[in-house]
Amino acid sequence: MPYIVTESCKGVKDKSCLSVCPVDCIYDSDEEDMVYIHPDQCIDCGLCEPECPVNAIFTDMDLPEEMQEYVEINKTKAEELMNKS
Ligand code: SF4
Ligand code: SF4
Repeated sequence: MPYIVTESCKGVKDKSCLSVCPVDCIYDSDEEDMVYIHPDQCIDCGLCEPECPVNAIFTDMDLPEEMQEYVEINKTKAEELMNKS
């Protein structure tokens, strides 16, 4: 049950979530307009969710239907950024 970052992060990206994640599984890059959570590294601690000022973070169970595409987007992008770093 990993956590998922969704479109509200776009243009905000204040990185509050990055500073509380105990396993550093939230990935950012200057070229990206949002951050992404690596689903295989997230330990479901939930610490990031209340930190987000725009409620962009959901568990995959609570993810609204219209945001389902972000499951794949987080996985693909986090993997890509992880391999770059
Ligand atoms: S739920 Fe915990 S481990 Fe997963 S991204 Fe958020 S802070 Fe990191
Ligand atoms: S706290 Fe929310 S808006 Fe800020 S970077 Fe994380 S997901 Fe994006």
